[in-house]
Amino acid sequence: MHTDGKNQNSFLNPEELSRYSRHLSLAEVGQEGQIRLKQARVLCIGAGGLGSPLLLYLAAAGIGTIGIIDSDTVDLSNLQRQILFNTNDIGKSKSLVAKEKLSLLNNTIQFIPYQERLIPSNAVNIISQYDIIADGSDNFETRYLVNDVCFHLRKPNVGASILQFSGQCSVFTASPNDPCYRCLYPSSPLTSAILNCAEAGVLGALPGIMGSIQATEVIKLILNIGNSLAGRLLSFDALSMRFKEFTFSTDPSCILCAEKRSLDKINYDMGAICKMNSSAENDQVSNDQISPVELHQLFEKKEDFCLIDVREPHEYAVCHIGGKLIPLAQLSQQIDTLDPDKLTIVHCHAGIRGQKAIDFLKQAGFKHVKNLTGGLAAWQKIFS
Ligand SMILES: [Zn+2]
Repeated sequence: MHTDGKNQNSFLNPEELSRYSRHLSLAEVGQEGQIRLKQARVLCIGAGGLGSPLLLYLAAAGIGTIGIIDSDTVDLSNLQRQILFNTNDIGKSKSLVAKEKLSLLNNTIQFIPYQERLIPSNAVNIISQYDIIADGSDNFETRYLVNDVCFHLRKPNVGASILQFSGQCSVFTASPNDPCYRCLYPSSPLTSAILNCAEAGVLGALPGIMGSIQATEVIKLILNIGNSLAGRLLSFDALSMRFKEFTFSTDPSCILCAEKRSLDKINYDMGAICKMNSSAENDQVSNDQISPVELHQLFEKKEDFCLIDVREPHEYAVCHIGGKLIPLAQLSQQIDTLDPDKLTIVHCHAGIRGQKAIDFLKQAGFKHVKNLTGGLAAWQKIFS
């Protein structure tokens, strides 16, 4: 039986030749590529807004084995964007309904539903059974967990997220040369930026675009064609109908990949990962940081905050990003010009003076202070 199954996976039957004929016409796919898709195992985390188009396209494309993990049931409020479900599905398990619907689209595929949340105790076991992970989860906890486990297991992770009118997608290959999700977001963004779709709202068609981009990246990775989004963050704004691209690289201070990269053996110890997760969330120092990408998002959203550049005037004269110039040594004299209740973001050239500045401001009673991680140097790597 085992041999039969293997044989079936190594060729396309007449029905499959017809079903995938538009793929087969593409030189970059062809029969060889289509067989690769058939042999591939992809895990989709979340069967919601992103998961719906993602799963539909992966199933249509003929990915041989698709895992679907989602602990939720279908709610009426999901139907505005989660196009895999309809009114009759309300109250039913998303992963089970997804399997049922997708089987109607393509019954040649093995669907494996998981009616549970991805948590530290099951993540290694589940993720290890797949070749590629597509993370469409809606919270930072899960994204960090997926990132960390994928990094340790060396599984590529195609991650996307959506909020209101904007979406993002990137690929984290788990290769030592490519940055991970923690390199991009060293700590959870500011509270104002981690509202979920329930609180902040989301345009219904938006996940259709981002989930389709995710599916495209997954398929490209399997076929090994084109250039992936590794080291690039693709950002989409539906209101202006513009895509922007930011490049980012490995963070030498990344608590995951920078520290683990030098290890000869991969550490599968989930305890260590969980500890790392919780220390990242509880660590006061890391919560004081804001990454260049997060700061850029605040600019884009025209958030109300005070940006202070604590470098010297001669450095400011060479280049600046619009912050109020208060050299570190003058901060105590000029503190009265600042509002202690307002979000205050400080930056210097490399992050060290900025850290001293926020420590001082916190002692002075400032409630919301952040230091730009890596300072202007890190900012310029991405945005100059
Ligand atoms: Zn990293």
